[in-house]
Amino acid sequence: MHVSEKAPAKINLTLDVLYKRQDNYHEIEMVMTTVDLADRLEFTLTNDNKIRVDSENRFVPNDERNLAFRAAKLLKDRFHVQHGARIKIEKHIPVAAGLAGGSSDAAATLRGLNRLWNLNLSLEELANLGSEIGSDVSFCVYSSTAVARGRGEKIEKLPAPPSCWVVLAKPQQGVSTQSVYESLSLDNIVHPDTNGMIEALHSGDYWGICKRVKNVLEAVTLPKQPEANQIKEQMIHSGADAVLMSGSGPTIFGLVQQETRAIRIYNSLRGFCEDVYVVRMLGTESLD
Ligand code: ATP
Repeated sequence: MHVSEKAPAKINLTLDVLYKRQDNYHEIEMVMTTVDLADRLEFTLTNDNKIRVDSENRFVPNDERNLAFRAAKLLKDRFHVQHGARIKIEKHIPVAAGLAGGSSDAAATLRGLNRLWNLNLSLEELANLGSEIGSDVSFCVYSSTAVARGRGEKIEKLPAPPSCWVVLAKPQQGVSTQSVYESLSLDNIVHPDTNGMIEALHSGDYWGICKRVKNVLEAVTLPKQPEANQIKEQMIHSGADAVLMSGSGPTIFGLVQQETRAIRIYNSLRGFCEDVYVVRMLGTESLD
């Protein structure tokens, strides 16, 4: 028996760090949405009581370090599941890119095995479990548009942004999320207008959204990433309506309404960046 799931990439429309907590985590507030660039996962029921992961990607571990493996193990242990599962991951989301590829695979695993193993858990229950795996997993369980608070596990759903094109460009050099947070100085942060962004989403105000995109982690990542700066400048120069780094980076995304302009931006980046994608904004639970 097989079940399959799509695991879409997320982008940050805002990312704010409010303060460092006593447990050493940062209290964050971020508005996130999803784009139509996705990994595909296939789950097969096995009788050997084991979990196996196969990602066929040399940057992704296939053992217990894989977030999909950890999600499967968590479900299996918590609900005393007596079956096994083979998880095949077809990677399309670039790795260590700020697009939450691993978290989205973990979330897709929670949704997929919930069906394969007939656990009948709600998305809310899966999102709560997801927070035990990683900060972005709860958001990825819904894979819609939401503001995430706390460590990222407190999710308040929001309307999807108006339809548009998203150009994504990933510089070659990856980024470690942990080291970005460790290097962040909390003095002199210019905070995003998160409430303004939430209002713009509620009123479907595309230009209001474009005006308010902001990510406080750009101040840490961009000075170390000349290629990311070059991509940003090129996207602005080629007419993107808004340009921002996603997550801890280094992927830069540009929003644009017209397809022709999205293609123009894509072509202008191809000369110096190998990982460029033109995709649709998704923003809603459209996971088939
Ligand atoms: P985030 O935006 O949530 O910080 P990211 O997009 O920057 O995440 P990922 O692509 O999730 O980063 O990968 C980060 C690390 O996690 C990689 O170095 C990789 O080895 C490991 N990893 C574990 N499981 C997976 C998976 N299923 N897919 C991708 N990477 C994985």
